[in-house]
Amino acid sequence: MSAPRNYQWARKALLERLVEQGISHPGVLDAIKATPREQFLDEAQSVRAYEDCALPIGQGQTLSQPLVVARMTELALNGKPRLAKVLEIGTGSGYQAAILAPLCGQAFTVERIAAFVEQARARHHALGLLNIRHLCRDGFQGWPSQAPFDAIITTAAPEQIPQALLEQLSPGGRLVIPVGMQGGIQRLTVVTRIAGQEYKTQEHDVVSFVPLLPGLVR
Ligand code: SAH
Repeated sequence: MSAPRNYQWARKALLERLVEQGISHPGVLDAIKATPREQFLDEAQSVRAYEDCALPIGQGQTLSQPLVVARMTELALNGKPRLAKVLEIGTGSGYQAAILAPLCGQAFTVERIAAFVEQARARHHALGLLNIRHLCRDGFQGWPSQAPFDAIITTAAPEQIPQALLEQLSPGGRLVIPVGMQGGIQRLTVVTRIAGQEYKTQEHDVVSFVPLLPGLVR
């Protein structure tokens, strides 16, 4: 079924806004253009899908504002057109994984709330995004059996960078992660694995994410 006309218009307006806000990677812009954000929200929120803000997705969690999704994806790609393997921590609605899917060979996404995992799996399947694998797992541990990854995007904020995620980066791989106290200042941080145990850390925008929490919700 094709998207209603008003959503197509809203998606075009969103793209123009993202370009004005400094997003320039053609693949990221194409992915946002091709992805129906309204289908990652429940009915009450879907009318707000193209607003420039974070939106509630249930269970006290939020889908990040489009600019933050685009910025994190650009930081992960670091100017490359595509990556081979990418891991997302915090599947939530499934929207960020849907943006990553066309930009990588294989996308892996982990989520601690089981209901979100099943919902995202169904949404990705319905959109024909067949290169995404889902797992209900505590993201502090990453996905060791699928490592190494060219990029890891974490969409919930820990107070400190989990060591397990650093160890699952390939040489040259990048971890894009908000770091800081819940309710305090969090910094979007990029850690690049130079080689072995040598890493380089860069701090970017001030952001506000839900906390990365331990344990599973079945
Ligand atoms: N990327 C999501 C954003 C969801 S909000 C999207 O596109 O919609 C962050 C998500 O991280 C929430 O769903 C939350 O349940 C999840 N999360 C928090 N701590 C986690 C952990 N330790 N492991 C996996 N997921 C976690």
